Amino acid sequence: MRMGPHHLIPRDADAVKGVRLSRGTIDRVWRFARPYRRAILWFLVCIVASALVALVPPLVFRSILDRAIPRHDRGLIKALAAVAVGAAFVDAGLAVAQRWLSSHIGEGLIYTLRVALFDKVQQMPIAFFTRTQTGALMSRLNNDVVGAQNAVTNTLGSAVSNVIVLVTTLVAMFALEWRLTLLALVVLPVFIVPAKRVGRRLQTLTREQMVMNAEMNTQMTERFNVAGALLVKLFGRHRAEVDAFSSRAGRVRDAGVRNALYGRLFFVALGVVGALGAVAIYGVGASYVVDGAITSGTLVALASFATRIYQPLTGLTNARVDLMTAMVSFDRVFEVIDAPVAIADRPGAVALVEPKGQVEFRNVGFRYPPAAAVSIRSLEAPGTEFSGDPDVDVLTDVNLTVPAGATVAFVGASGAGKSTLLSLVPRLYDATTGTVAIDGIDVRDLTLDSLRAAIGVVSQDPHLFHESIIDNLRYARADATDAEVEAACRAARIHDTIADLPEGYRTIVGERGYRLSGGEKQRLAIARLLLKAPAIVILDEATSHLDSENEHLVQTALATALADRTSIVIAHRLSTITAADQILVMEQGRIVERGTHAELLALEGRYAQMW
Ligand code: ADP
Repeated sequence: MRMGPHHLIPRDADAVKGVRLSRGTIDRVWRFARPYRRAILWFLVCIVASALVALVPPLVFRSILDRAIPRHDRGLIKALAAVAVGAAFVDAGLAVAQRWLSSHIGEGLIYTLRVALFDKVQQMPIAFFTRTQTGALMSRLNNDVVGAQNAVTNTLGSAVSNVIVLVTTLVAMFALEWRLTLLALVVLPVFIVPAKRVGRRLQTLTREQMVMNAEMNTQMTERFNVAGALLVKLFGRHRAEVDAFSSRAGRVRDAGVRNALYGRLFFVALGVVGALGAVAIYGVGASYVVDGAITSGTLVALASFATRIYQPLTGLTNARVDLMTAMVSFDRVFEVIDAPVAIADRPGAVALVEPKGQVEFRNVGFRYPPAAAVSIRSLEAPGTEFSGDPDVDVLTDVNLTVPAGATVAFVGASGAGKSTLLSLVPRLYDATTGTVAIDGIDVRDLTLDSLRAAIGVVSQDPHLFHESIIDNLRYARADATDAEVEAACRAARIHDTIADLPEGYRTIVGERGYRLSGGEKQRLAIARLLLKAPAIVILDEATSHLDSENEHLVQTALATALADRTSIVIAHRLSTITAADQILVMEQGRIVERGTHAELLALEGRYAQMW
């Protein structure tokens, strides 16, 4: 039997207060376990078989003592010994099979849950990511998934196995001699009561140990990054830091020692109970044998069965709380898997085929959705839970038609709503009122895949994955040939820069990779856009913080990228957009002026002022 001390620790009863093993949770667990139902069945068969096989040796020894020895039957002794050896081998085989099955089920469940979570998280709207703590989300994919697996293979598995071992052993014992069996059970409370106390102490210790570990780790992570390390050096705090760390690490050490001691106490005590049980059985049983009430073989068999009942009994005293604790992980995993997806394909959504690129805003109004609509409470940063539900109109009554192939530019103070408005086109958010349409079709009636394929976005600070340049470019189109990639990079004026890198297109970039300058990143993003070849381009201009050479290159690249496409530009500097077909001035979520550069200057309004 596989059992660690943690099986004997009563779990935190507070943590599972209010947790119900609801039908819903059980149904969902069962649904996710569907591919493994056959394995689960075999697992149960193995448990029952091994519990039955374990009954064989004591019974064999009984026969040796009671039959073979009195009759001097050496043949029978050999035969019985062979049976015992056979039982040992079968038991070993079953143990391996059981482990294989349980790991097959457990790892399979981890896999299924992980993939389901990853898939789900990818579908969540962008508002979810702006609110959610990445650490908490990662923990769902790592710890809780493993916890859920643990619930099935360890907690549930050992509970089932404990019950079966207990039932089979007790049945065998009662069949042999009921009075001695009761006697063996009588010693149990002597153990259970103190065991529970030690268990609680162990639980407190474990929690303390976790807190101490966390403190130690926090110090490490805060000091091991550039900013923290710099602070330590500049304030000459090296010695003090080491002292603080050594006292924390020392507490972790002491807690480890205490924990090990208490953990051991369980098994020592279990051993003592086993010994006491055996003494009681032999002490009382021997006089039964003298009286001729039972045979000595029965006595030996009973004593050896008795040693098998204490561990399962102890394990089962905490089974309910153990199961509840384990189910909490399941609930936390399902909380994410079952979260509603705010932005998804509508039933009967149509694909946008060969988009021309006309973009229309009709009476668009927008408020950022309340946290409860897009987020999961337990994943929010502590202290910010669902706070500050915005109830202000970020956009009001926006009407605009951008003809296919035209270039329009938005200008206005920061916070006017320009980025928000444009985020409605690829449905990063859905308009609260009114309609956003492409080629006359409401974007909410289009499939998300085809909608997003039609739109290319270049942001101020384009993101690159920690992968090679070529992989980052192919993110736009996985099947682009080397020649196509190179052509796109030439058009984006970035090919020469890449070719000069020692590893060329295979250079690893991204946050921890080769540091591209802002202008280089922009041009790479433009190359990526050219590979995607969308009908509509949304551009958040970033030329303001580029040096003049980079700016020139980016502008040239953009001229190529935007030609023949509908382009919607957020302009930070007016000089770059004088040629736009239409310029929209935004203020507090409204379009307050519109027209060409010349028209707006003639108007002598806000635009003319800015100019
Ligand atoms: P601009 O692009 O013109 O600078 P934004 O569209 O970024 O303006 O912002 C418009 C308004 O919406 C601002 O008041 C801003 O605070 C608010 N806002 C922007 N993003 C969010 C968000 N994720 N959640 C809530 N409010 C937001």
